[in-house]
Amino acid sequence: MTERIVVVAAALLDGDRLLAARRSAPPELAGRWELPGGKVEPGERPEDALVRELREELGVDAEVVERVPGEWPLKSPYVLHVWTARLRPGSPAPAPLEDHDALRWLTPERIWDVDWLDQDVPAVRETSARLGTR
Ligand code: C5P
Repeated sequence: MTERIVVVAAALLDGDRLLAARRSAPPELAGRWELPGGKVEPGERPEDALVRELREELGVDAEVVERVPGEWPLKSPYVLHVWTARLRPGSPAPAPLEDHDALRWLTPERIWDVDWLDQDVPAVRETSARLGTR
């Protein structure tokens, strides 16, 4: 069996609002919305990978809070893990620097207003269900 590679994505929270990021590339994903994140490098802790990806992609200084239980398949060999995260005090506001061309802070009742990537839908569903019951 091929080794699986973890892609970490952030449920970046501001109070009860969740950040959604619209992909600008590749063409087959452009225009769809995702939880921002990326691949964990060999030897890297997933939490560190997430902080790095959020700095690179959004220009923010984030801290990871906790893992959302679950693992969702992406294109093999990738699997998606989600962690909740928050901006550290003094962090710049998120900006679409690399892979994205729009960002939205979604309140709980607006969570399904955006066209999430198919593969992110179950992760967003689980995340919002858990946030709703805190
Ligand atoms: O950003 P990076 O190229 O490292 O992401 C690795 C892969 O994970 C990409 O194929 C990307 O489309 C996918 N991904 C995803 N859902 C996310 C984050 C990344 O399907 N929330």
